[in-house]
Amino acid sequence: MIYVEPAPIKDKENPFESMMSRFHIASQALGLNDEVYNVLKNPVKQVIVSLPITMDDGSIRVFEGYRVIHSNILGPSKGGVRYDMGVNLDEVKALAAWMTWKCAVVDIPYGGAKGGIKCNPRQMSSGEIERLTRAYTQEMINIFGPDRDIPAPDMGTGPREMAWLMDEFSRAHGMTVNAVVTGKPLVLGGSLGRAEATGRGVMVSAFAAMEKLRINPYQATVAVQGFGNVGSFAALLMEERGCKVTAISDISGAYYNPQGINVKDALTYRDANNGTLAGYNGGERINGDDLLTLQVDILVPAAMEDVITVRNAEQIHARLIVEGANGPTSARADEIINNKGVLVVPDILANAGGVTVSYFEWVQNRLGYKWTRDRVNRRSDRIMKDAFERVYQTALKYGVSMRIAAYIVAIDKVANTYKYRGGF
Ligand code: GLU
Repeated sequence: MIYVEPAPIKDKENPFESMMSRFHIASQALGLNDEVYNVLKNPVKQVIVSLPITMDDGSIRVFEGYRVIHSNILGPSKGGVRYDMGVNLDEVKALAAWMTWKCAVVDIPYGGAKGGIKCNPRQMSSGEIERLTRAYTQEMINIFGPDRDIPAPDMGTGPREMAWLMDEFSRAHGMTVNAVVTGKPLVLGGSLGRAEATGRGVMVSAFAAMEKLRINPYQATVAVQGFGNVGSFAALLMEERGCKVTAISDISGAYYNPQGINVKDALTYRDANNGTLAGYNGGERINGDDLLTLQVDILVPAAMEDVITVRNAEQIHARLIVEGANGPTSARADEIINNKGVLVVPDILANAGGVTVSYFEWVQNRLGYKWTRDRVNRRSDRIMKDAFERVYQTALKYGVSMRIAAYIVAIDKVANTYKYRGGF
């Protein structure tokens, strides 16, 4: 059995410790042997690079870039690249491990990785971001590859950055290699349905959970934290299916309307307003943190990690939390939330729709063929529903939360595959 002490849980949790403490609990429930435990707890590769970039004013700034490959047991490693000032090695390590568990939960043939550059893309020109992306790709030229490690968008990146990454990688190889990255623009081999895939998966998981809790969607109220690629589509798709979205938020603050926010209008406003909700008047402006403790049935944290913590977990009113972001709930908050009887659909399940459609994009690229939006949606919905049910049944079987159940499903799958592959 496992002899390793659980990661100490301090007041201020870091994402890697949060990940490790769940991994530890699930490994124990599963009776994982300590050899495999030690294999899975350590990332296989951690790369840190310095990227000197000429800025528009002629000065040279050096940025720090990371890529962590947590596991390639199930297949080539997969995971996004994040551009944010908060990027650091511990965060990237946690996010890489979450990708391993996420891909295993939805049963797609990928390992897990994550990358990031510590930068503030909001304060950089398009040209500066392009040079930074190309420099990062050059430094990762022997790491990335369609059968090796496949990046994708994450916080602060999107189709534009993926196009530069694909182009730079392709130039270095003297041929078009579109399967090296997913989340590309449609014209470069992106998949229909990829842009909304994560939000759609959040909606599908929310509806599966509502069915279990016997919540009538037409009477359900929802608060969504974050109005980027994940939160905005989750809000829109839930609204389209009858839920009342009473609060949304982004970096400009939160907006609350007990009669229901008109999500379509909010999206139109955001897109015409430099991508932010600043000045939006379809709801009362409230403090961003207060959104989490509103009187709603469903809470969708879809912004960033560590927002539901020991500080606010007790005040949460929602009966259902569907985690659109990676790691929004700290490990210590888990216990408080579980004791309150709140059902949490964990990140590695709830937001797996994005990487699922990334997988479809990669499959289409390799086939040289394009699927219809309908086919993409039908197949990803099925994968999400099946994964939800698998995790739900595992939770009942082991008498654990859905979060620990999702780790159990994932660790079991990776550990079994490892037994066949073996080590040195
Ligand atoms: N960055 C997204 C995530 O955290 C997508 C990753 C991917 O598509 O590879 O799931």
